[in-house]
Amino acid sequence: MFDYLIVGAGLFGAVFARQAKDAGKNVLVIDRRPHIGGNIYTEEICGINVHKYGAHIFHTSDRTVWEYVNRFAEFNRYTNSPIARYKEELFNLPFNMNTFHALWGVTTPDEAKEKIDEQVREVRESGIGEPSNLEEQALLLGGRDIYEKLVRGYTEKQWGKRAVDLPSFIIKRLPFRFTYDNNYFNDSFQGIPIGGYTHFVERILEGIPVKTGLDFFDVRDEAEYKAHRIVFTGMIDEYFDYRLGELEYRSLKFETEIKDTVNYQGNAVVNYTEYEIPYTRIIEHRHFEPENKKSSESQTVITREYPAEWKKGMDPYYPVNDERNEELYKRYRELAEKEGNVIFGGRLGLYKYFDMDDAVAGALKLAAENGI
Ligand code: FAD
Repeated sequence: MFDYLIVGAGLFGAVFARQAKDAGKNVLVIDRRPHIGGNIYTEEICGINVHKYGAHIFHTSDRTVWEYVNRFAEFNRYTNSPIARYKEELFNLPFNMNTFHALWGVTTPDEAKEKIDEQVREVRESGIGEPSNLEEQALLLGGRDIYEKLVRGYTEKQWGKRAVDLPSFIIKRLPFRFTYDNNYFNDSFQGIPIGGYTHFVERILEGIPVKTGLDFFDVRDEAEYKAHRIVFTGMIDEYFDYRLGELEYRSLKFETEIKDTVNYQGNAVVNYTEYEIPYTRIIEHRHFEPENKKSSESQTVITREYPAEWKKGMDPYYPVNDERNEELYKRYRELAEKEGNVIFGGRLGLYKYFDMDDAVAGALKLAAENGI
């Protein structure tokens, strides 16, 4: 009998397993996927570490988390600075002085602020007051140019709905930065684990028994998988066999391609903001790890990312935390609290979007709460 059976070899499960193992507990980790790492899994193609489930950049302002992850990998100095492409125009993200210069030719923060104010004034003068949908909200926050070129198409593709049919609260503010700083994140620490995320998770799980390709629901009653406690990082509604109904997610489809060039787009992430192009971004994986000497010298690997409606059986990526789903999740939570020896964790167990640093911090906290 194990002390802990950990369902899910993603970041949350791996960190919890490490803490339990280091506290002398007898642990088994299982995952239904054929590999460890969950969504941060990277696979080597052409010597390049390919982010199989979307671009992952580690960023945090939590020094404890940063020091913890650095025990298992050296992180490079990658700084996320995506490009937005609208038709033949290119813009830096997040919205900053480089973006405003490309949009309007302005060169000073005052000129940029004046231009945004002018555009927002025009929107108000056209009769839009209190926003009744996402389109009106975005127009009131940033004016027409930013909305048309950088917000509308991208958001509509992400949600699979037109902006006039989306609620205004989705966009609370547009993060404008009046400096020439293309660093997407405001956090103190940022980088990519050198050698890829899979290697990083392998190190976290060192010395811990792991079985991949094994679904908890196929083995939950078998004696050899019995444990005093289960840490379940899969979908909470699936655990309860959807007895109260299904929680909703947004899904993604990835299309990965090898290109016969060494540098396809000059940047790791290029967002496609026009509606007519069905994907939201193209990732060129080699740029996440420019120091990687194994990367092919003649080929590169790109991935197109398409937002998709989630249906049972597809990979769930983003929880849809609207009123209906929050209400349903609350009712699953009540069931969960009655499951004596099962602890729900991770982004699927808690039905919450987690960045990687949240996953690490959450697993460390849960371990501490359990005295390990
Ligand atoms: P997961 O990685 O989903 O792990 C859960 C594991 O449980 C899975 O491997 C699954 O197969 C397994 N499992 C489920 N059910 C069962 C079962 N019945 N039996 C056995 N195993 C089961 N975060 C950042 O900090 N920076 C980023 O740039 C970033 N980019 C992202 C991009 C995308 C497209 C997405 C979707 C997320 C991104 N994230 C990013 C978030 C990051 O992916 C998560 O924080 C992290 O993966 C959460 O880890 P987890 O262990 O909770 O979940």
